[in-house]
Amino acid sequence: MKIKVIEKSYDEVQSIKHKKHKKPIRPNMFFRTLLKLVAVPDLMQTHFHHEKIDMEKLGKDEPALFLMNHSSFIDLEIVASMLYPRPFNIITTGDGFIGKDALMRWIGCIPTNKFVQDTTLVRDILHAVRKQKSSIVLFPEAGYSFDGTSTTLPETTPALIKMLKIPVIMIHAYGAFSRDPLYNNLQRRSVEVSATERYVLSVEDIERMSAEEIGEIVDREFSFDNFAWQQENHIKIDEPFRADYLNRVLYTCPHCGTEGKMQGEGTKLRCKECGVSYTLDEYGYLSCDNAETKFTHVPDWYKWERQCVRAEIEEGKYRLDIPVDICMTVDTLHLYHVGEGRLVHEESGFTLDGCEGKLHYEQKTRASYTVNSDFNWYELGDVISIGNNEHLFYCFPKVEGDIVAKTRLAAEELYKIANAKAKAEKEENLAKARFVSTSEGTTVIGKMSEEELAKITGKSQSDGQ
Ligand SMILES: [Zn+2]
Repeated sequence: MKIKVIEKSYDEVQSIKHKKHKKPIRPNMFFRTLLKLVAVPDLMQTHFHHEKIDMEKLGKDEPALFLMNHSSFIDLEIVASMLYPRPFNIITTGDGFIGKDALMRWIGCIPTNKFVQDTTLVRDILHAVRKQKSSIVLFPEAGYSFDGTSTTLPETTPALIKMLKIPVIMIHAYGAFSRDPLYNNLQRRSVEVSATERYVLSVEDIERMSAEEIGEIVDREFSFDNFAWQQENHIKIDEPFRADYLNRVLYTCPHCGTEGKMQGEGTKLRCKECGVSYTLDEYGYLSCDNAETKFTHVPDWYKWERQCVRAEIEEGKYRLDIPVDICMTVDTLHLYHVGEGRLVHEESGFTLDGCEGKLHYEQKTRASYTVNSDFNWYELGDVISIGNNEHLFYCFPKVEGDIVAKTRLAAEELYKIANAKAKAEKEENLAKARFVSTSEGTTVIGKMSEEELAKITGKSQSDGQ
């Protein structure tokens, strides 16, 4: 799928007026049927079949929240087919509306921007569920998985479930990643696709459970490993291009430590620096052709890269500073190419400068728990996207080497570190606030009851929160 790109200056794009917010539409029977029919060829080709577990608990006209793991475009076709004729609204990335705004709305899509705080989204979801009695389909991960394992979930999902108070259904697709993994440049493999639809939480469960308990269940439901699934189920993928561009995910050589010099081609992943070569076999295992095998499993290699990035950050050595091509979205008509610039990523966050000095944008590390980075985005190239509700910047690296996966890992690790630091500081301040001055001097009040405290201070405790 491609996207319309046009050239415009940064000033011209800045002067484009933001369109008024539109409420979500409950898709009518014509569009629900259309969506189901459009999905037929792909689903037939993959011998799609699905299983329903405990789904009799969900009323025919009862709205529900369907959560699904997102691994490729076929996911939309799977839900369209499985949920038919139930009306549903699907939360879709805003860039998906470019050039087809009206159609996307008629089929029930609700736009949102990935990893940007979006308060109107919650209002739209409530409108769809309460006013229109429509179900919601949500891919909580938002970002596609690079290595076939689950990505970090937003901390807001349990709160959303608590607020909506509608049953939660989990849709799990099997084979969708193996058929069309993001790194492989849209080269489809012949893999059967199936799915399960399972009733996970009732309204009573949601009312009874704390947000933490719900979060644990959602996290558990979302832990998966598509390479392990392939290995355990002995799924044969014998396409000769299966390791093409695997370097996008496995960008560091575990033998010589060089980054961005790996090359995935055919069934091989080779380091151009030291010459070490790996083969990705038909069942999803890696083996080294000319040295000791360091990793047999793609996600293990990726996990090791995460540890390397973490160590680099902790040693104060992490920094990205690269020339980029910059595109922007401000409406649903086009993607605007506004010029060139430099993207810097460091401990404090992202800084983007460009368009002959006109563009300067900063995004703090704690603005998001991850960053929207993608491989071969709309067939334009690998991309790192940052921004806010006003505008989004799509940065296409203009240098050799595989940068976007590392940037995502770094953004996630930097966020974890910054969050832990902020939490520790908050606790320290709280502890400080638990000392109180009395006529006899300073007293520690941390472990006292409210009553004991009142005796000393003559008032109720304030813990400084
Ligand atoms: Zn090497």
